[in-house]
Amino acid sequence: MAILVTGGAGYIGSAAVEDLRGKGETVVVLDNLVYGHRKAVDSSVAFYEGDIGDESLIQKILDEHTIEACMHFSAFAFVGESVEKPDIYYENNFVQTLKLLDVLIKNNVKKFIFSSTCATYGEPQYVPIDEKHPQFPTSPYGWSKFMVERALADYDTAYDLKFVALRYFNACGASGDCGEDHTPETHLIPLVLFAAQGKRDSIAIFGDDYPTPDGTAIRDYIHIADLSQAHLLALEHLRNDGKSEFINLGNGGGYSVKEVIEAARKITGRNIATKIAPRRAGDPSRLVADAKKAREVLGWNPQFPEIEKIIESAWNWHEAHPNGYE
Ligand code: UDP
Repeated sequence: MAILVTGGAGYIGSAAVEDLRGKGETVVVLDNLVYGHRKAVDSSVAFYEGDIGDESLIQKILDEHTIEACMHFSAFAFVGESVEKPDIYYENNFVQTLKLLDVLIKNNVKKFIFSSTCATYGEPQYVPIDEKHPQFPTSPYGWSKFMVERALADYDTAYDLKFVALRYFNACGASGDCGEDHTPETHLIPLVLFAAQGKRDSIAIFGDDYPTPDGTAIRDYIHIADLSQAHLLALEHLRNDGKSEFINLGNGGGYSVKEVIEAARKITGRNIATKIAPRRAGDPSRLVADAKKAREVLGWNPQFPEIEKIIESAWNWHEAHPNGYE
């Protein structure tokens, strides 16, 4: 039996593929390589290039492999872009996921692990955010993920689909050979490291007038190795006939933008120039997970909660891959 990993050539998916293989699991990757990197997947892994909504391709994969479960990572994930092009986000992230689910369910593949996001909560009404926090996303990206969550709950009721929807907070760091290589890059940690490498002059701090101790926004940074481990535990949960769950993945702490930059200065030993820029539209001051449920239900225990460790792994990867995967 094999695990189908969609988006297995992407940032988090490729780390999960490696960890699954490390556990002796057979893996089949489906990725359309729009944002994924072929080189992020070992050449010995069964690889299909194509869309998750290509029903005949999904059927072909299911005919050629005995698939036990699907880990569904692939999605478009640029919040700003989703505001400008909501049609693409709803089509790619929601409509195509329904097509994938249709084929899986028709073929009796009913274990599904979904990459959801803290963006489904929208503006926090309280922090830390637990899974019962109201969900009212502030972007089409967040809504597209929220709509999949709704569909999953309804598909469980109607078709007995068993799922774990994992709501990631801020994914970061590098795991083994798998690192962060987005085009365009918008995330704080890689941009800070580009500044350390001299690829950019400085890093813009988006807002220093937030109601936080140093005035900069606080996020819950979670290492991709820990995210990946949660997927393996979610698979075990479903294999043990666990019920469908929505689960936050974060450390429950949080670091400010300034703390991230300071940690990067310490790890890299480089000067990192900053400039204060206006707040980015839609950025809440503090997004931190209550991640108790992941520990209780999955037995998850993050290994890399410290920002220094996260940045160190990312730095080593960026130094070893100055041009990303290319
Ligand atoms: N951020 C920043 N400068 C940048 C990129 C990001 O100050 O060049 C801030 C951003 O406003 C947020 C935090 O860093 O408060 C994390 O942003 P990122 O884009 O990495 O993740 P997000 O929280 O948007 O998912």
